[in-house]
Amino acid sequence: MPFSDFTGNPETVQRLREMLARDHFPHAVILAGAHGSGKYTLALMLARAMNCLEPRAANGLPDFCGRCSNCTRIALAQDLDARFAEAVEARENLRETDKKETRIFIQPHPDLLVIPPDPPQMMIKVDQVRHVIQRIYYRPAEARESVYVFTSSAFMKEAANSLLKVLEEPPEFATIFLLTENPGELLPTIRSRSAIFTLGALAASDLESQLAKLRPDWNPRQRALVARLSEGAMGRALSFDLESYVAARGHALAMLKSALSGSDHSELFKTTETYRPGAEGRQKIESLLRTLYLLLEDMMCLQSGAGQLVRNTDIQGELKKMAETADFAWVQRAAEGLGEVERGMRRNLLRSLSLDAFATALEPRA
Ligand SMILES: [Zn+2]
Repeated sequence: MPFSDFTGNPETVQRLREMLARDHFPHAVILAGAHGSGKYTLALMLARAMNCLEPRAANGLPDFCGRCSNCTRIALAQDLDARFAEAVEARENLRETDKKETRIFIQPHPDLLVIPPDPPQMMIKVDQVRHVIQRIYYRPAEARESVYVFTSSAFMKEAANSLLKVLEEPPEFATIFLLTENPGELLPTIRSRSAIFTLGALAASDLESQLAKLRPDWNPRQRALVARLSEGAMGRALSFDLESYVAARGHALAMLKSALSGSDHSELFKTTETYRPGAEGRQKIESLLRTLYLLLEDMMCLQSGAGQLVRNTDIQGELKKMAETADFAWVQRAAEGLGEVERGMRRNLLRSLSLDAFATALEPRA
């Protein structure tokens, strides 16, 4: 999987590879970008390009073979969720006393250390950074460059201060990647000692053409829909749960239509009745709310003549009819009503109560 397999942000990737080529790669790199934008994928690609045993060039810039023992072992870290789950499970199986002192790391190669936020707090902890400090000043064993990847910028305070000390005197042969959705979360002193690269959102059309290659099991309408719902992030598009989305949207459409037709709220209650118990119900309500928002936004786009911004493109005709039935004020009121429901849920009010409030907000004004 060489650099040509990375989707989007070609200028950023090129600049990073140029720095590799000139042997001027910074010791600390912040890769910023939305969830699913490819930060982790890119960091692991750079780690392989630094350490490939049969390095090659593509377009005059460093690339990697993907087959040598360094490339293949580094690639084992690629499925971050699976590796993380394994590490957490391994810790669960330790003796109670060891459990407390064990922090979560992912290390498929002796010279690659991935540092994810440590559960249950899901923060990078000072013990994790201490472990990095213990190792980072030793020369890599099998690689040219040892690579450390912090997958989140949620650092505990003491951890961030310890990291800063490393960044003040980084060893020649180590590279630290800090991945973040928001560089502002990092200490300014950490930011100023790092080179920052941002992975921007991709156009829906770019996502769509990549999905045509990578998700042939989806039909063109489905790919167009997923491309518009993934907020420009390739990783989100690839892991999009289309089935759940379409199910939630079916419920949301039924609710909006029953409200628009001025009938009673039986449809609303029929839908949400099945949601009430437990964590699964809560998750279902959350995706229902998100979907309702998206539908209302699409209706607003259609009402204001901005049909090209509609995201639920596969049901555009249906949405158009709904947008014609409702007036702009109603759609706005419904969106505000949804906001109320969300605030209610955050305050842990009975979900049924806050959904009733939403139903009232949807009532057509006499
Ligand atoms: Zn290789």
